[in-house]
Amino acid sequence: MKTECSLVRDLLPLYVEDMVSAETAQYVKSHLAECSECQAELDSLKEGEGLTAIEKKPTANTEDAKPFKTIMKRMNRQFYSIAYAALIFLIFLGFGWTGGENLMYNSMIMPVVGIFGYYVFRWKAIYKVPILLLIIDTFVFLFKLVDLDLYSAFLWTVIYSIFVFVGITIAFLLHFAFRKEKN
Ligand SMILES: [Zn+2]
Repeated sequence: MKTECSLVRDLLPLYVEDMVSAETAQYVKSHLAECSECQAELDSLKEGEGLTAIEKKPTANTEDAKPFKTIMKRMNRQFYSIAYAALIFLIFLGFGWTGGENLMYNSMIMPVVGIFGYYVFRWKAIYKVPILLLIIDTFVFLFKLVDLDLYSAFLWTVIYSIFVFVGITIAFLLHFAFRKEKN
């Protein structure tokens, strides 16, 4: 192993944690670009296993992928929360616009609500999103955030649900198409 390699490998754990200076990071990065062995070492470090490429057994591959999957899951969960928050926000926005001159924008917002809904709930969005609509609609109605009578408030929930179904259908078809492409 070259001196440069052993130096870089000593730095890699710190480099992964982003705990080196900008100059050092630059140095490590330029070495990694030229040295595939150190790059492999970095990859295995990132996957949470401190094994070198030579020590790594071929059967260990699936084991190595586990920490990576955990990170992906954690990231996914964050995206779920963001999508969920966006979902609630858009429904509130939509109902806020009901009865106003922005009402027509709901024909775009509600399908987006459906897409987020599918992302968060998958097929269960079909009933969970309308339930959310109903809850938020009731809230908006009870606190008189918009000027609607009970009948039209309920009617809008039904109409918005139809737009939401369109969004869910679009999201489902996209999801299905992407999955096919991956396989
Ligand atoms: Zn190297």
